[in-house]
Amino acid sequence: MSEKKKAGVDKVCQETDCAEKMVGLTPEHKQLFKSFTYCPYCAEEMTLICNNCHEQLTSADFKFCPWCGSEFAD
Ligand SMILES: [Zn+2]
Ligand SMILES: [Zn+2]
Repeated sequence: MSEKKKAGVDKVCQETDCAEKMVGLTPEHKQLFKSFTYCPYCAEEMTLICNNCHEQLTSADFKFCPWCGSEFAD
């Protein structure tokens, strides 16, 4: 088996305006956002994504991205 790519899971809002606000966040804030269920900017439900391919994930418990095969480091 070949070496797996490493990736991380990000929690984002699908609204473009909110996603743009979240780009500038510090790693500490991004960590905090992962515990949120709803977007603090628009109250839409937050979405988990793979930060390698940016595809949506249906579970926070995935060990590998089902879309790009990256291993989630944590
Ligand atoms: Zn939002
Ligand atoms: Zn992926």
